[in-house]
Amino acid sequence: MLRLEDVSKRYDTSTALHLTDLVIDEGKTTVLIGPSGCGKSTLLKLMINLIEPDSGKVFFKDTTFSATNILQIRQQMGYVIQDGGLFPHLTARENATMVARDLGWQNHRLETRILELADLTRFPRDGLDRYPAQLSGGQCQRVSLMRALYLDPEILLMDEPLAALDPMVRSDLQEDLKEIFLALKKTVVLVTHDIHEAGFFGDTIVLLREGRIVQQGSMAELLDAPADPFVTRFVKAQHGFSGDR
Ligand code: ADP
Ligand code: MG
Repeated sequence: MLRLEDVSKRYDTSTALHLTDLVIDEGKTTVLIGPSGCGKSTLLKLMINLIEPDSGKVFFKDTTFSATNILQIRQQMGYVIQDGGLFPHLTARENATMVARDLGWQNHRLETRILELADLTRFPRDGLDRYPAQLSGGQCQRVSLMRALYLDPEILLMDEPLAALDPMVRSDLQEDLKEIFLALKKTVVLVTHDIHEAGFFGDTIVLLREGRIVQQGSMAELLDAPADPFVTRFVKAQHGFSGDR
C-alpha cells in the first residue's frame, strides 16, 4: 500500500529521520512506536506527503507523489492528527463533512454518510450539531475519525489518537477502534508511545529510536528476538509488559 525508499528528513540542524526503508502492508495495522521525539510523527507526515523527504521516495500503490496527483492520492488517505485537529467554530457534522462538501457532495448523500459513520464510530446522532467544546474528548476523537473515514479512504493514518484521553474513555475507544479496523479491513498506520496499545493493535510493530527504525516485526518477535538491547529496555520500561499472548 505504501513504500518508503531511502527516505530521510532534517529540520534545520537536527535529523528527525535518518535514511529509512519501510513497507506498509495492505489490510494490516502497522504501529509506529518509540520515545517522544524519535520521529514517529515525521514518518507519518512523510507517508501522506504533508512534508517532503530530503532524500528518497514515497510510493502509494507504486505511484510517487507529484503536484498533479497529490490531491487525488490524499483523498484515498484518512489522517487523524495528534490532537484531533477539529475546527472549534464548526459543529461535529461540519467538521466531519468538510472535505466532501468541498468536493460538491449533495445534502442527502452527506447525510446518509454521516449517519452511517456516527453509528460505526458509536458517536451519538444528537451530538452531530454540537461544537467540539460541547463534546467530550472521546467524542471529539470519534468526530476526527469520522472525518478521516468520510471519503472511505484506502488507508487510515492516526497520530496518537488515544493519548489525550483518560483511561476509561481510552479503553472504550481502543476496543471500538479495533472493531472498526477489522470491520472495514482497512490498511492502518497508528502512532503510539504506549507498548500495550502497540500490542493491542499492531499486526506489525515498527520501533523507532532517534530517527531510526530499530526493529520491525510482531510483538512476539520484539519480545522473543529483540534486535537490540534498546528493544527490551523500551518494552520493560513500560510496567513489566509481558505480551498480549
Ligand atoms: P515524535 O512524533 O516521535 O515525538 P517527531 O517526528 O515529532 O517525533 O519529531 C522528531 C524530531 O524532529 C524531534 O527532535 C523534533 O523536535 C524534531 N522536529 C519535529 N518537527 C519539527 C519542526 N517543524 N521543526 C524543527 N524540528 C522539528
Ligand atoms: Mg508525535
